[in-house]
Amino acid sequence: MIAGAGFAGLTCARALASASVDVLLIDRRNYHLFTPLLYQVASALLDPGEIARPVRELIRPLDNANFRQAEVTGADLDRRLLITDRGQVPYDYLVLATGSRSDYFGNTSLAEHAFGLKELHEGLALRNRVLGQFEASRWIAEPERRRVMLTFAVVGGGPTGVEMAGALSELIRLVLHKDYRDLDLGEVRVLLLEAAESLLAAFDGPLREAALRSLKKKRVEVKLGAKVEEVTAGSIRLAGGETIPAGTVVWTAGVRGSDIGAAIGLELGRQARIKVEPTLQIPGHPVVFVIGDLAGAMEGGALLPMLIPVAMQEGRQVAATIAELVWNGGAHAFRYKDPGIMATIGRNSAVAQLGSVRLSGFLGWLMWLGVHLVNVISFRSRIVVLVNWAWDYLFYDRPIRLIVRAGDDRSTPPPHAGTQG
Ligand SMILES: Cc1cc2nc3c(=O)[nH]c(=O)nc-3n(C[C@H](O)[C@H](O)[C@H](O)COP(=O)(O)OP(=O)(O)OC[C@H]3O[C@@H](n4cnc5c(N)ncnc54)[C@H](O)[C@@H]3O)c2cc1C
Repeated sequence: MIAGAGFAGLTCARALASASVDVLLIDRRNYHLFTPLLYQVASALLDPGEIARPVRELIRPLDNANFRQAEVTGADLDRRLLITDRGQVPYDYLVLATGSRSDYFGNTSLAEHAFGLKELHEGLALRNRVLGQFEASRWIAEPERRRVMLTFAVVGGGPTGVEMAGALSELIRLVLHKDYRDLDLGEVRVLLLEAAESLLAAFDGPLREAALRSLKKKRVEVKLGAKVEEVTAGSIRLAGGETIPAGTVVWTAGVRGSDIGAAIGLELGRQARIKVEPTLQIPGHPVVFVIGDLAGAMEGGALLPMLIPVAMQEGRQVAATIAELVWNGGAHAFRYKDPGIMATIGRNSAVAQLGSVRLSGFLGWLMWLGVHLVNVISFRSRIVVLVNWAWDYLFYDRPIRLIVRAGDDRSTPPPHAGTQG
C-alpha cells in the first residue's frame, strides 16, 4: 500500500508494475500534480489541467495497481492497518509518501494573510488575487491606496520564490500592461524578500549573481537580509522594524514534512521529516518505508533535499526492495545520484548547475524548457504546455487571465466509516 500519489508514490507504484504484489495507492486528491510549473498557473500562463492528471488515468497501464481517494490520518503499525477518513485498510507493506506542506514556523500572521504556493488550489487562488487586485485598483482614486494594492511581495529566495517573482513581473509588465491602458507601471511593485544574504543558496556564487541581475532587469526589487516578522492585510513588518506596504504576500520560504509522521507517533528529525534507516525503512518496522519529502534520508551527514529526483529515486529503490522482500530478499541502502538543479527567471533566463556544467541566461533557459517539457506528466499536457509557452513567447500574451472562484463546494460526499477488505 502506498500513501500519496505524488512523485515518490507514483514512481514507486510504476516500478512495482512487474512485481508479484497488488498495489493500492491512496491520495486525498484524485490527481497527481507537476509542482515545477505551479507558479505558471499562479501567473496565468497555464491552466490546472496542464500540470495535473488524474491518478486513475496514470495508473491505467498498471495491471496490479488500484487507487482510492481518501485522507490518510494515521496508521496502526502493530496491526498493519492504514487509517483514513473513509476507513481502515490492512497492508503487508506500507510506503508513506505524503510529501510536505508549507511551514509558517508558528507565525499565525503569516498563515492567516500570506498565500501559499504548494497546492493547485493555492496557485489558482493566487492567480485570482493578482488579477482581482488589478481590476479592483481601477476603482480606487487615491494613488497611495492603488500602490499598496498593486504591491506583490514574494517571500523566499529559493527556486520557487525566484520563479514566481520573475513570472509575476513579466505577467504585469508584458501582458496586463496591455489590458489596462490607464495603468501607471510606476504604481506596481514586485518584491522578492530573502532572509539570507543571497538568493538560491543551493547554487554556485556566479549563478546566484546571474539570477539576481536577471531579476533586477525584470524589475523585481530584491531585498536580501530581509526577515519577515509579521504580515497584516496590507503590510509586512521586517525584523529590525521596517514596514513595507503590500497588498499581496506569497510565502515560499518554508516547508515541513506532512503531518502523518506525528499522527503515527514516529520519530521526526529536521523539517518534521520522518527518521529512516539508510534502507528507507522505519526503525523497528521493516515492512514500513518512507520516501520523498516526508523521508528524512541522510547522505554524508546531511539531509537529502526536498526535490523530485530524490523522491523518484527513493520510490524506485523501495519498489525494488519490496519486490525482493516478497521473495525473502534483503534491503539495500539508498544512494542518491544527483542530476543537478535549475531555476528559471522568466523568458530567456535561467540558471542550471548540472555536474560540472554551469549555464545561465538564454542557454540555461533552453535547457530548463527542454527538461520541463519532457517531464510534464502526459503527452497531451506536453502539447498544450508547448502551445501556451510559444503563444506567450511570440505574442507576449497569456490566455488564461480569468478570475474564477469556486464559491460552493458540495462535491465531496461526507466520509463514512468502513474497512477495506
Ligand atoms: C511550487 C513548487 C515548485 C517545485 N519545483 C521543483 C522543481 O522545479 N524541481 C524539483 O526537483 N522539485 C521541485 N519542487 C519540490 C517537489 O515538488 C517535491 O520535492 C516533490 O513533489 C516530492 O515528492 P513527494 O512524492 O514526496 O511529495 P508530493 O509530490 O507532494 O506528493 C505527496 C502526495 O501525498 C498526498 N497527501 C499528502 N497528505 C496526504 C494525506 N494525509 N492523505 C492522503 N494523501 C496525502 C498529496 O495529495 C500528494 O499527492 C517544487 C515544489 C513546489 C511546491
